[in-house]
Amino acid sequence: MKKNILVIIAIIIIIIGVLEKMQRKNNIKKKSSGMCTIQHSVVNSDTSDFFATAIETSKKYQSAYKSPERIVLENRVAVVTCMDSRINIPNILGLPLEKMLIIRNAGGRVTDDVLRSLTISHKLLGVEQIFLIQHTDCGLQKITNDVMNNLLEESIFKAELIQNCNITLEPLQNNRMCQWRNNSQCCGYHQERKKINWLPIEEGLFESVFTDVQKIRNHPLIPSNVPVYCFIFEVTTGELIQVPKAMEAGRAKSIICT
Ligand SMILES: [Zn+2]
Repeated sequence: MKKNILVIIAIIIIIIGVLEKMQRKNNIKKKSSGMCTIQHSVVNSDTSDFFATAIETSKKYQSAYKSPERIVLENRVAVVTCMDSRINIPNILGLPLEKMLIIRNAGGRVTDDVLRSLTISHKLLGVEQIFLIQHTDCGLQKITNDVMNNLLEESIFKAELIQNCNITLEPLQNNRMCQWRNNSQCCGYHQERKKINWLPIEEGLFESVFTDVQKIRNHPLIPSNVPVYCFIFEVTTGELIQVPKAMEAGRAKSIICT
């Protein structure tokens, strides 16, 4: 008798699971098809003014171009930083663009791909010093994973920031105080099965730099005798602020191979 009841409960649970799955599939279908009625104008290479100008400029560049014999890294420096266009690394560090390696992504976060690039930078290109530079007013301080995923679920097209937050170095505010709004509400991407970690900076810049330097320092393929210098670039003043706790974590240590 008891056994029969358990079997019935198990069957009910399975049926509920199947029904929920079907419902989810329906929702995905609804969100990813049929609702997309906004017609966005498009630009292609044959209609883009900038494309034409860029091609013209590249031809002028080529006519005066002198090929460097090899890669010359002055001071053997690699820089990991954000893709934010306000971060002008050659001006900040006083090194020409062609004399250092710059690895950029959203936030200047240390990802697997950054670790791959840093390993190659040292192993094959001779880098001996790493700068890790994140910055104030970074987009990653203005989102959480939920905020980003919810925006995308509603629409894959552009969203705008309607209430800013986290613009100063301190005090750090809550990322959730930022408000984003989708410009359209169609063509959402249902990510239920594939949540992406956007690496938001929720713990504050000092902590995110500290977290990231440890990923470099603890990586088995990046030797510990390569120092990692850690900074926050203050975009309103242009100051390059050292992060003491992260600098300490990034200090080079000599290696004795036995
Ligand atoms: Zn940024």
